[in-house]
Amino acid sequence: MPTYEVPIVTADIAINADFDVLLLKNLINIQDNRLQICGALDEFIDGYQQWINTQRADVDKFDDTRRQVGTGIIERMDVAKSRIRQGVHLLKNDSVVAEAFGLANQAMREQMIQSGYDVPKWRPFQLAFVLLSLASCIDETDDYRQELDLIWFPTGGGKTEAYLAVAAFVILWRRLSFSAVAAGGTVSMMRYTLRLLTTQQFMRACRLICALELLRLDYPRLGEERISIGLWVGSNSSPNTLRQAQDIVNKIQGGKREEMSQFVLTSCPWCQTPFDNVAKNIKIGFKSFDFHCSNLQCAFGAQNIALPCQVVDEVLYVKPPTLLIGTLDKFAMLAWKPETQSFFGRHGNRPPELIIQDELHLISSALGSIAGIYEAAISTVIEQKLVGPKYIASTATIKEANTQVKKLFAQQPAIFPPVGISSEDSYFAKTVALDEQPGRLYLGYLAPMLSRQRNLAPLAAALLIAPLLLFSKDADAEVLLDAWWSMLVYHGSLKGVGNSHNSFNILVKEHYERLMQEYQQQKGLDNKQIEQDDVWQLMKKRLPSRLNIAQLTSNSTAQQNETIFSRLKFERTNPDSIDVALATNMVSVGLDVSRMSLMVVNGQPITTAEYIQASSRVGRSHVPGIVITNYYRDQSRSLSHYENFRAYHQSFYRYVEPTSVTPYTYQARKRALHAGLVIVLRHSIPFMLADNDARNFDKNDVQIQAVIQAFINRCSNADPERCQEIEAHVKQIINEWHQIVATDIDNSVCYSALDDRSKQSLLYRHGQSERGQWATLQSMRNVENTGLMKLL
Ligand SMILES: [Zn+2]
Repeated sequence: MPTYEVPIVTADIAINADFDVLLLKNLINIQDNRLQICGALDEFIDGYQQWINTQRADVDKFDDTRRQVGTGIIERMDVAKSRIRQGVHLLKNDSVVAEAFGLANQAMREQMIQSGYDVPKWRPFQLAFVLLSLASCIDETDDYRQELDLIWFPTGGGKTEAYLAVAAFVILWRRLSFSAVAAGGTVSMMRYTLRLLTTQQFMRACRLICALELLRLDYPRLGEERISIGLWVGSNSSPNTLRQAQDIVNKIQGGKREEMSQFVLTSCPWCQTPFDNVAKNIKIGFKSFDFHCSNLQCAFGAQNIALPCQVVDEVLYVKPPTLLIGTLDKFAMLAWKPETQSFFGRHGNRPPELIIQDELHLISSALGSIAGIYEAAISTVIEQKLVGPKYIASTATIKEANTQVKKLFAQQPAIFPPVGISSEDSYFAKTVALDEQPGRLYLGYLAPMLSRQRNLAPLAAALLIAPLLLFSKDADAEVLLDAWWSMLVYHGSLKGVGNSHNSFNILVKEHYERLMQEYQQQKGLDNKQIEQDDVWQLMKKRLPSRLNIAQLTSNSTAQQNETIFSRLKFERTNPDSIDVALATNMVSVGLDVSRMSLMVVNGQPITTAEYIQASSRVGRSHVPGIVITNYYRDQSRSLSHYENFRAYHQSFYRYVEPTSVTPYTYQARKRALHAGLVIVLRHSIPFMLADNDARNFDKNDVQIQAVIQAFINRCSNADPERCQEIEAHVKQIINEWHQIVATDIDNSVCYSALDDRSKQSLLYRHGQSERGQWATLQSMRNVENTGLMKLL
């Protein structure tokens, strides 16, 4: 079997200092102790500065061609370092910034303690990133306001904590800096792709918002308006209306307790007490929906205050949440629903100033292209009120980020941490040499005589029995047995999960029993004697028919998957622990269980990015990960990867496919450009907002013209080569709209008439019986690669 050990990357670099700035508790009092703390932060940056200097000295020794490349790398590091310094400079000189920074550390610390950390501590890159982004998040004139800060770090490095900390800072800074009215409303939008948003991630953000809300209750300067979080996702995941919410409550009260998962939150995000008494946990009012915690020991339960978490769309529109978490999908509704206006700052609220895009590399192909046009619309709306929002994104695997960020955001990315001269060391992230710490071991397995229905069985049987044979007699048996006990089996499709399930029922069992017989023969014991053997007894307990086998797929509800995630954390001695988890690619982004160390990947995934993401789920703690790729004899991709096993694994980051987004091709424009135009006009101009306001469209109106021009400019900036096409296409849409209004003798034009035949709609959904002018998406769920053919 070919093997390759991929070294791990660590974010835990040593920082020598008397005053440890990485401890969150040390940063909380910055306001009272500014000199000392800023001095220590300066020292923290000195470490980076010195390291850059040694890199510079190395570059000076290069020959001319290499020196040119090297100088570019040094320049990027210098910029990052200066920006971090500038963050500290702000803390020194701006008391409001210092106050917000101290409080943000306090909220993050409390959030981490609630999540189970004993001594909350920053990883150096997290703290550096927060400092680096401070200025551009709060100063619209900052040089880096219009660069997207891209956190690029391997999976498991702690990217989420880094951007959550920035969000906390911006939320607090806005409360401390502006009048109550201006400071209110939605401050930040965080976006996930559909398959990514797991309850685990929503809970983490909820916990931070709970911490901020508790802070606010003790700190009058943070204002009267609650600090809250809203989940804005499709109707399949959470209720859209209070009526739907009430229906769910009724079902739960009628005995269908599993319906609780429709509210996404099924336990208190602060203390984790399950919501098992719906009458106490959910309160629905005339225009309100609230979660309540029933644990009297919990900060929220004790005071009986509503949790600051909202999942019902109807309430989100009335009370826009401070932090809005939405799936990309849902943003299609901005064209349809005037109520969504509330997220862009109304009644005197400032618009959102921070937009966070998680897992940027997933915003690609057809979905990414459509998302690009919606993105242009959103930023145009915000630009009408501010210079523009600050963008932050994160990824673990990306290639050609420049092109992608340009097409999606019309910005340049500033990658953090910037790479060093060697790809193995950026100061903040270091590849750990294999002699210092084992890496993740990849093995290639190919059974040329077995079909893909049968090839998993011998492998799985061997993996089930191996820990027993290897470690049962060891002094550390308990720890070692647990280390590679639970097996994660990855599949490219649901069908694969079904196959494996059948395989465990029949074939794995046969192979397992054969291995047991071989063991008995080796030992030379008869049927009676073998029963006295300890290892034999353990083997019997692990017979495939006695295994706990779970599934993690999109067929299960979020709640069911969440239960499996929790059970995967259980050690093997727990009766509810899981032996085998059969999963689809949904685990490659959401699963974060440090205990997992053994994985089988069935078939070579289509992309390298997916392969890296998926296999990075194991070996995240001190137990080294083992990944066995089960190649299929009838899959040509499998065969070529098997043959090039070593070369591929030696540098698989190099094989990551560039993500392609082409928002301004004719196909993408045809599907979304008109929606973008509707969004910018509805949400930027008050007399264009309501449904009937569609008839107020006047292409000669100065205000309308200005907004349209801003939209054209934003789109053209993203794709300068197509600027003429874009402009011509927008003009065509304008003329169509103008024509409709000009011939509207009975005042019947509106944005969407649904099925009202007396009205004339601009927008209609695919499949709607009454048509309108433009077919318009209501979600991005069904955005697939479609080709358009032009017949000449
Ligand atoms: Zn609670």
